[in-house]
Amino acid sequence: MNHDFDVISAARNWRTDTVATATPDQIISSVYASDVLTLEQLKARLSKPTFKSLQATLERGATLDPSIADTVALAMKTWAMEKGATHYTHWFHPLTGSTAEKHDSFVSPNGDGSAIATFSGKELIQAEPDASSFPSGGLRATFEARGYTAWDASSPAFIMRHANGATLCIPTAFASWTGEALDTKTPLLRSVEALNKAVTPALKLFGASEGTRVSSTLGAEQEYFLIAEEYYYRRPDLVMTGRTLFGAQPPRGQELEDHYFGAIPDRVLSYMTDAEQQLYALGIPVKTRHNEVAPGQFEIAPIFEDSNIAADHQQLTMQVLRNTARKYGLVALLHEKPFAGVNGSGKHCNWSMSTNAGENLLEPGDTPHENLQFLFFTSAVIKAVDEHQDLLRISVASASNDHRLGANEAPPAIISIFLGSELSDIFDRLESGQGGRGAEAGLLGLGTSVLPPLPRHAGDRNRTSPFAFTGNKFEFRAAGSSQSISFPITVLNTIVADAVSALAAELKAKLDGGADLNSAVADIVKATYSAHKRIVFNGDGYSDEWHQEAEHGRKLLNLRTTLDAVHHLTDAKNGALFEKFKVLSDRELAARQEIMYDIYFKTVNIEGETTEYMARTMILPAAVKYLSELHAAGGSKAIKGVAAEVEAAADELFDAVQALSAQNAATGGDEVHEKAHHMRDQVLPAMSAVRKAADKLEKVVAEQHWPLPTYRQMLFVK
Ligand code: ADP
Ligand code: MG
Repeated sequence: MNHDFDVISAARNWRTDTVATATPDQIISSVYASDVLTLEQLKARLSKPTFKSLQATLERGATLDPSIADTVALAMKTWAMEKGATHYTHWFHPLTGSTAEKHDSFVSPNGDGSAIATFSGKELIQAEPDASSFPSGGLRATFEARGYTAWDASSPAFIMRHANGATLCIPTAFASWTGEALDTKTPLLRSVEALNKAVTPALKLFGASEGTRVSSTLGAEQEYFLIAEEYYYRRPDLVMTGRTLFGAQPPRGQELEDHYFGAIPDRVLSYMTDAEQQLYALGIPVKTRHNEVAPGQFEIAPIFEDSNIAADHQQLTMQVLRNTARKYGLVALLHEKPFAGVNGSGKHCNWSMSTNAGENLLEPGDTPHENLQFLFFTSAVIKAVDEHQDLLRISVASASNDHRLGANEAPPAIISIFLGSELSDIFDRLESGQGGRGAEAGLLGLGTSVLPPLPRHAGDRNRTSPFAFTGNKFEFRAAGSSQSISFPITVLNTIVADAVSALAAELKAKLDGGADLNSAVADIVKATYSAHKRIVFNGDGYSDEWHQEAEHGRKLLNLRTTLDAVHHLTDAKNGALFEKFKVLSDRELAARQEIMYDIYFKTVNIEGETTEYMARTMILPAAVKYLSELHAAGGSKAIKGVAAEVEAAADELFDAVQALSAQNAATGGDEVHEKAHHMRDQVLPAMSAVRKAADKLEKVVAEQHWPLPTYRQMLFVK
């Protein structure tokens, strides 16, 4: 059963003719964004007034003028057909966490036997996919299946290519006929607006900014594994669930630490180059690539963009990574924990706020004035994260991320902020009033002469913090590698909007009362830090001491599993927050909770069934076959000894499978959260017992009988 040799020769003989070979000059002059309908493209193809009207929507958030839709649609169609597109699709983000598309041809029969290409403004602005095929969490009664997609003009249309053609993709929002969001984009757009409404007036209080709008910026680092395609297809668990449900630890893990930043194998590098060139054509600014910590693990990261566009681009990045791997005989695994005992994969979300004049509000400045602003907005983030730890934790909760969060190699389930020693020191000194309010102007312009200048780049790094300040942005590291980043960003935008509007109201009151800006801001920063510094932790987030201190000393939340977290989504505090900023209504929030339970339940249910199936039909038969061979072979000491070991593990497996089978057959209740709890409390432990016995067998059954590719093979043959 050992096909190593085939796989190795496939690895060595991968086709070289598909490798993309554009030079940097070519990428810049002709590849980059060549499949994107950019503003320049539209400008060249639209009349001045039409373009101006569209631009008002794009740049100032004005409502789209429906009368220009036909003209824009015509320009889009012409551009897309020049690019070889035969179809168009409204491309949207349903609550499954992935993307959806329903293709329509441009070709319309004329009635006289001929055909023409059509695409109207109406077709551009709105479409009606069958909403009943997507999760709605009860927002859409089953008799009313209608749902609408609506053009999001703020994210550019693009061309998606396949071997035999191309499709024009129009980014859209997806809502029910009652106007409730059925997708992840709509709340994200609403949260960007909420952030703008809260932060822009706050910024005005500081006086100097040239910006008139504020948005969030986002750069998402994507981690993933690559394995040989042959192995993938021989692992029903990988095909069905995206992770290995069985597998003994390989003799060598990541203890040698030689993989991180190590040389990238040729086939992998060719794959990456190909994927990157497709991403460039889509206007996705991918910048870095490297090996990750675990063997077979890699990372790709773009330059940050406006968060709505970054969220669209992140989905496309996952799609291109997955599709392109096949060309190279590889499979890209985006699951958070494809291999037990081996580092998992995350998706670090680098987040900041920026004005339309390009000013990063979390960039420490050169002048005292800029530093005041920086400290004000940074303390708002500290307040936001402390007050809404639960929401951040919920935004990254999933059955797959549970294997990573809280485990001993990933951001813990406890949310805390790493500020770095320099910045912490500044906040601490401000808080303690050290240096006083002397006459001499201090370095920060805050009346303190003893403060060091603000760190332009965080001098220290901390890989164990779930939420780290990294010089001019925060990095939310708890997000999972396979998830959509929309909800985490929606939460960040909303909680920071909340904190900024509260602090801005205080600041305004002080200024109205005659206080000067410096002392008013200093007071607010000091009080905010005092009230929320329990969330700041610069030490080792993986240590047991921290878990003790966080939970018992600081009373921070430790929502260990998805179900512990999701339960809090509809807490009164959260409902009120999302309602206040018009990001999610109570009904929309409840629907999301329902869907999170449902997806959790279904995910573990499939894993439970797959575990049972593989144990019964692949692993037990292999053990039994080997046993019968041993029994037939006679009675030497070695044969008896081996047989006894195999028999003990096989019996253990047999019993564990019976127990799992009973749990798979049970439901735990009719409500979706009851079913989800049944999965967590009964099915997952029963699966672990099966795995434990099977992994023991893997170590004693002859390799030629073992039916599954092993960790050793999957992780090390590239
Ligand atoms: P680091 O060295 O901390 O990893 P990088 O500069 O390499 O920092 O950035 C990591 C990611 O953070 C990249 O995707 C980058 O584009 C993104 N990033 C940088 N600045 C910002 C910002 N102002 N807002 C959002 N993301 C940012
Ligand atoms: Mg990383």
